[in-house]
Amino acid sequence: MAEQVADIALIGLAVMGQNLILNMNDHGWVVCAYNRTTEKVDKFLASEAKDTKIVGAHSLQEMVAKLKKPRRIMILVKAGAAVDGFIDKLIPLLDKGDIIIDGGNSEYQDTQRRCQQLAEKGLLYVGSGVSGGEEGARFGPSLMPGGHKEAWPHIKDIFQSICAKSDSEPCCDWVGEDGAGHYVKMVHNGIEYGDMQLICEAYHLMKTGLGMDCDEMSEVFTKWNQGELDSFLIEITANILKFKDTDGTLCQQDCVICSRFYAVERGCS
Ligand code: NAP
Repeated sequence: MAEQVADIALIGLAVMGQNLILNMNDHGWVVCAYNRTTEKVDKFLASEAKDTKIVGAHSLQEMVAKLKKPRRIMILVKAGAAVDGFIDKLIPLLDKGDIIIDGGNSEYQDTQRRCQQLAEKGLLYVGSGVSGGEEGARFGPSLMPGGHKEAWPHIKDIFQSICAKSDSEPCCDWVGEDGAGHYVKMVHNGIEYGDMQLICEAYHLMKTGLGMDCDEMSEVFTKWNQGELDSFLIEITANILKFKDTDGTLCQQDCVICSRFYAVERGCS
């Protein structure tokens, strides 16, 4: 029997999972890392996770055996069938009161269905929106957990330690029962994409209608960012328009902007 050393397990070692694990480690939590393709576990332990308290597992059985009780398992994989697949494999390995958290961009109706499925097994289920992309996952995402409220006292300290802070208030609180966490994330993404559409249309009007160049447009966005439109998206738009791309490569200085635009291109946020 493996020693129960880990506070939480995280399944899914793609960009979000790896960064969230490193963030949890920074805040003193012992995380057990697992991935379907287990070579990624070894690679992660030998590189980014080297010299940390992070442990790994090569099977779900091994992962479960390393967890303190009640077990907390976070899934951060491609939304859809992959989440159901892991839930089905985890159910026979867990005890009543153990907690499964889905931090991916799942549809809220799927989360509602999974809440019911797991309640019937005596397990607790949390569907949590995670926002901020790669950079947020590493240094402080906004977290929107919802589902079985009995799980909240067991995950609150972890979630509120790793999340972003606004005026020292955690950008994370319990948002409600059932699929509420993923519903809030969906609304959040809808607002964000509406905001991006408005920014694109403003850019289009300034560029093609008024014939403004990038420096002039940057000045407008900078000014807007000092008033009631002050926001991350307006700020990075001003910075992007200001950036001089002389050699055809992407800016290596401001990784927040670059990672954000990669995320937008890939359709996630
Ligand atoms: P991703 O590219 O969405 O997914 C890759 C991960 O899913 C890998 O661990 C992969 O395992 C696993 N996976 C895929 N299909 C699988 C299957 N059929 N069975 C088992 N595992 C499977 O990763 P991500 O970008 O880190 O995002 C993770 C979740 O967070 C997604 O739901 C995403 O929408 C959400 N999210 C992403 C961002 C972002 O900025 N990227 C922001 C917020 C939320 P293998 O290595 O074995 O292929």
